[in-house]
Amino acid sequence: MFDLLKPAVDAACSDAIAATVIRHGGECSESELARTESLARDAGADVVVGIGGGKALDTAKAAAFKLGRPCVIVPTIAASDAPCSALAVVYHDDGKVAYDLFLPRNPDLVLVDTAVIAKAPARFLSAGIGDALATFYEADACRRSGANNCMQTRGAPLAYAIAEQCRDTVLEYGAAAVANCIARKPGPAFERIVEANILLSGLGFESGGVAGAHAIHHGLCELDDVHHHLHGEKVAIGVLAELILQGAPAEEFERIRAFCVSVNLPTRLADIGIAEVTDEKLRIVTERACRPGEIMHNEAVAVTPEAAVRALRKLA
Ligand SMILES: [Zn+2]
Repeated sequence: MFDLLKPAVDAACSDAIAATVIRHGGECSESELARTESLARDAGADVVVGIGGGKALDTAKAAAFKLGRPCVIVPTIAASDAPCSALAVVYHDDGKVAYDLFLPRNPDLVLVDTAVIAKAPARFLSAGIGDALATFYEADACRRSGANNCMQTRGAPLAYAIAEQCRDTVLEYGAAAVANCIARKPGPAFERIVEANILLSGLGFESGGVAGAHAIHHGLCELDDVHHHLHGEKVAIGVLAELILQGAPAEEFERIRAFCVSVNLPTRLADIGIAEVTDEKLRIVTERACRPGEIMHNEAVAVTPEAAVRALRKLA
């Protein structure tokens, strides 16, 4: 992607802006954050522009904040909630989640060109649908439990309405959008899904709150097995586990499971690299997912590691 876009960025900046273009190292880790911040400081940057996928964008957001500079975000894939949010997920260099870094403000500008997004493999769009699918179920959990959103305030009714709109959009247009993307013919469904994945899900999760689906995601990231799978793919498994934990009716679970299949999202642990499901692996995942203070406890039902193990066993 860097080699593909650099000539266009260079050409766009040539006469107007003195831009220093740096290639992201691949992980949003403390070492990458320090490197980016130092390069931007050395360049005397007035503004930090992040172009790329979630980890590159999160790095740009965090570096801009540390430098006290405005931040412009240009996503090249619609694979997660990263573009609009004020959150940067910091990983260890080995790919495990280290911590969530909540920045005091959201990006100043998010510029989305669907012609760029349509050039990315459809797998990224599917992953974004997985992340967007979680938005409603997690906001709804927070609404019912009274848990705070990501800004540590109660989610406003508008946040819940955005989350509902996000769910309805992905369920209605998801499969057509993925077909658009595979055929390299972005149409109205594709536009709707890019908006849902980036804007509705970004606003909805942050203002509505997060819960079980992302808690399971964080737990899954403890396993080396899943590191070649995308955030939204693991979140999709998290949504299915969350529905089981919430005691969703069988028809609702089946509706969402079938939807995941229709948009090429995983529905089984083997689909995200956990070919062999052992008690030890499930213990590692669920202890992380259910540790004290974790977002799992934003659910309206009490979730123990044992209950989470039982839910994941149903996805084995
Ligand atoms: Zn997410």
